Amino acid sequence: TRPDYCPPDVEQLGRATWTFLHTTAAYYPEKPTPTQRVNMLTLIRALPVLYPCTHCASHLGETMKEHPPDVSGRVGLSRWFCERHNEVNERLGKEKFDCSIQKLDERWKDGPSDGSCD
Ligand code: FAD
Repeated sequence: TRPDYCPPDVEQLGRATWTFLHTTAAYYPEKPTPTQRVNMLTLIRALPVLYPCTHCASHLGETMKEHPPDVSGRVGLSRWFCERHNEVNERLGKEKFDCSIQKLDERWKDGPSDGSCD
């Protein structure tokens, strides 16, 4: 593994970005205000333009045309990010994640019920 002072490679950047996006979705309101929706849409739409892995950004831009962001509430948004992440997993030959809200909340918000993450 590369030392911590090195700039992030595509893998590190990806892990950090997915952590941010899935966690932000997990804490997004059930019933967002129009302002919250607009800001989430702006955040998502910026990714294909600004994400500093060009081929990652362009893949995401393509898939977003077919699957417009669902900013209606945290359940829909969490699922939307999960599905986009699964598309990348599939491309990279990684395992797909179960996109049920139970599994997503366990991974990104609540931790498992055995308390091992408390
Ligand atoms: P990651 O895929 O980073 O996942 C981190 C953790 O998230 C996992 O340990 C798991 O617990 C959880 N997780 C896994 N899948 C899901 C899911 N579907 N929903 C919720 N949680 C999940 N890399 C490339 O090589 N090519 C690309 O085209 C590419 N495109 C990317 C596009 C975007 C928008 C982003 C943010 C990243 C992209 N990456 C791409 C990086 C890639 O997705 C991984 O982040 C990187 O390969 C590191 O993988 P990892 O195995 O450490 O786990």
